[in-house]
Amino acid sequence: MRSISVFGATGSIGESTFDLLMHAGGRGAFRTVALTGGRNVARLAAQARALGAEVAVSAYDDCLPALRAALAGSGIEAAAGTEALLEAADRPADWVMSAIIGAAGLAPGFRALRHGGTLALANKESLVAAGPLLMAEAARHGARILPVDSEHSAVFQALVGEDIALVERIIITASGGALRDWPLERLAHATVAEASRHPNWAMGQRITIDSASMFNKAMELIETREFFGVAPAQIEVLVHPESIVHALVGFADGALMAHLGAPDMRHAIGYALNWPARGALPVARLDLAALGQLSFRAPDPLRWPALRLAREVMEVRGQAGAVFNAAKEVALDSFIAGQVGFMDMAGLVESTIDKMVTRQSLGNAATSLDMVLQTDAEARAVARSLSGQEKD
Ligand code: NAD
Ligand code: MG
Repeated sequence: MRSISVFGATGSIGESTFDLLMHAGGRGAFRTVALTGGRNVARLAAQARALGAEVAVSAYDDCLPALRAALAGSGIEAAAGTEALLEAADRPADWVMSAIIGAAGLAPGFRALRHGGTLALANKESLVAAGPLLMAEAARHGARILPVDSEHSAVFQALVGEDIALVERIIITASGGALRDWPLERLAHATVAEASRHPNWAMGQRITIDSASMFNKAMELIETREFFGVAPAQIEVLVHPESIVHALVGFADGALMAHLGAPDMRHAIGYALNWPARGALPVARLDLAALGQLSFRAPDPLRWPALRLAREVMEVRGQAGAVFNAAKEVALDSFIAGQVGFMDMAGLVESTIDKMVTRQSLGNAATSLDMVLQTDAEARAVARSLSGQEKD
């Protein structure tokens, strides 16, 4: 029986993963090693009971008593805190879902690779902040990383049986997010609530705001480069409001292979779960006649400066991705807290990168995860001080 663990089981990706695991037979089909979550211990405990997990871990120490109480009588171990998350990652599992949000997902993912199994990677921050290191770690342990981001899963599927050397370009699509059709001059005044209403995808609030600002797509540009090893100039972003075509791969003969599907993350999660085969998935089937038409347009660089920043980060490479990711998380926190405006987020990230460049040579690659986490911490401190200044 295949053993599995889910990091970030109570989040948006985690819940979709749980749904698919239950659909595929639940505890009768999988041996669940570890499930992890945050403060929603009731939900974490319910999932752990349903799948008969060995251990359930909350990321927060103070949640331990409540988690213990919720698991009483089940025989399931309860644990909490950062060390407990790493200990859970040390428990061997054939298939591990990495769906913690943010830089907090890096260390558990790295640790899970040591078993040489499969890491289904939703945590794109791992590739943005530490791509070369993560891929090298996987290679060293004979582990496999499968993409879970919908665009990257789409590219991965379009590449089955193909020679990557014959790929001319990779096009990832973007819905444009909640504020896509707003007049440019209104964007500066967009509220958190307005930026949090995604037109097509039901996701966590942070990634939904990142969709509106295109920081999510900016991260995905870097993720594409790191995952598939193509040059930055080969990767394009295309605004596609319907979110039906997730990505396209262009080959040397001019052919473009597109991946289409309903906007439902269970497509990509299910592909990673069943890979290299395909399994029946409980997702909506497309009715193209009912859809009638699909539309595409080039992204407006004034509206979405995050895309230009990502290209600059890809040029520098080294540790620029770690700075970019950390600064983006601080900028998002500052926007959610009402400290900076919607259009100030990109400026804050850019200023953080500029400041960090003068401090150290960002172009030098990180040689350890500790180094990445150190750069992450420094970049956060710089971004926080800058966002404080921008308040006045
Ligand atoms: P979410 O906020 O809904 O869930 C995050 C999960 O991580 C929860 O289980 C939460 O308890 C846990 N968590 C939060 N902070 C933590 C911390 N500091 N330490 C340990 N655990 C913590 O996030 P999500 O939308 O499911 O996204 C998860 C990851 O998947 C992100 O990296 C995101 O970019 C990526 N992703 C999400 C989607 C989507 O549709 N939601 C699509 C593509 C990629
Ligand atoms: Mg995506």
